[in-house]
Amino acid sequence: MRAEHFASNEDTIVALATAQGVGAIAVIRLSGKEAFQICNQVFKSKDLTKQPSHTLHFGTIRDEDKIIDEVVVSLFIAPNSFTKENVVEISCHGSNYIVRQIIQLLVKKGARLAKPGEFTKRAFIHGQFDLAQAEAVADLIAADSEAAHHAALNQMRGGFSNEIKKLREELIHFASMIELELDFSEEDVEFASRDDLKQLVNNLLQVITALIKSFNLGNVIKNGVPTVIAGKPNAGKSTLLNALLNEEKAIVSDIPGTTRDFIEDEINIEGISFRFIDTAGLRETKDKIEAIGVERTHEKMKQASLIIYMFDLSNTDPMEIGKEINQLENLGIPFIAVGNKIDKATATMLEKAKDFNLTLLSALNKENLETLKAKIIEAVNLDTFKTGDTIVTNLRHYESLLQTQNALNDVITGIDNSITNDFLALDIRQALHHLGEITGEITTDDLLGNIFSKFCIGK
Ligand code: GDP
Repeated sequence: MRAEHFASNEDTIVALATAQGVGAIAVIRLSGKEAFQICNQVFKSKDLTKQPSHTLHFGTIRDEDKIIDEVVVSLFIAPNSFTKENVVEISCHGSNYIVRQIIQLLVKKGARLAKPGEFTKRAFIHGQFDLAQAEAVADLIAADSEAAHHAALNQMRGGFSNEIKKLREELIHFASMIELELDFSEEDVEFASRDDLKQLVNNLLQVITALIKSFNLGNVIKNGVPTVIAGKPNAGKSTLLNALLNEEKAIVSDIPGTTRDFIEDEINIEGISFRFIDTAGLRETKDKIEAIGVERTHEKMKQASLIIYMFDLSNTDPMEIGKEINQLENLGIPFIAVGNKIDKATATMLEKAKDFNLTLLSALNKENLETLKAKIIEAVNLDTFKTGDTIVTNLRHYESLLQTQNALNDVITGIDNSITNDFLALDIRQALHHLGEITGEITTDDLLGNIFSKFCIGK
């Protein structure tokens, strides 16, 4: 399967590896058999084809006699490079004009523009890493919270790939034993003990089920914990949201030189991002009186992994608090009940609030927000993340794991019902197929195309 891909890999590809836009330095990457020869034609200082791997060389890039820039080139001789091909990285000054000129020049000398994700695809095809690891490269680049970074890095460095590969090999062993039995079907021999097979499949199912379960957490880590702020009108929902967001904005803009656009409605607490669902309405509909009681926000709350439910302590009947907390408990989604406006509430009310275990704060005065944040972290229970267990963050892996689980369940049912060997072998092969899809032992051009086209050019 993999050999086919080599054919299209003869070209030497080129792309800007650093971000678009003006920076002090930009890096242009060339990869392929002719990388050194092509660069040599435009680089003046020494013959690059005669230099050792992993060396840096200062010189100029010229179009005939015209100097385009002074640059440093780094050389990586195959297979000791990211793509396992010959790679040249040209660090030039970060002007868009210079970058364009150099790339055009390299194309004129025989390179071709890289397609999205083509560097990573080549690295995968040449066995630098498996498919799940290649996908983690994209996740690592996109990670903008500590948790997302941790999960992606873990996966890129092997993550669950190794575990899956090991189990897959054991299963392959059983599959071949059972297929061997088929050859001896007249003689009624049993090379593969059905009890051992069942034991192995059950082990596999345990691992797979844990990975499937980790996807909820993985998804949350990658995309943020979906969070809803709910409560009656005027409870202080938008004030709280703004207080949380503004704090974050202040932190971000305190870092000198940050030009990063602030991501609306997302806050980062202890390295985990929390994404607020449907908060546009909170800001816009100041005058629209919406009776947003528990019942009417059910739909919205059901999408959440965490609900922050607010009460206006200066203006709520304690009976009402008890009733609404009851309804929240029935939803079965982690929630934090907040008693807001402690600056305005009576001492009696504050005392009563204790009965309901409310988190007391003043959104307006930004008082006790730290307590709320601690509760938020506690509520989402990210222990799995902290213990460093393997977490599935990729939807494609999740779907293949579900299909593997189905096939393995079929194997168990098959053994229990003593189905014939050929059907048993078929079910095992099915499970192997889906497992192999995750790490890339089983690939199709469509699958690869689909995965790598989601990368940017230059990756
Ligand atoms: P929402 O309808 O739930 O989004 O409520 P708002 O955030 O718009 O707040 C309603 C009113 O309560 C506004 O006038 C806020 O200034 C006020 N408010 C919000 N939080 C507090 C608080 O902690 N203390 C006091 N005194 N007023 C608050």
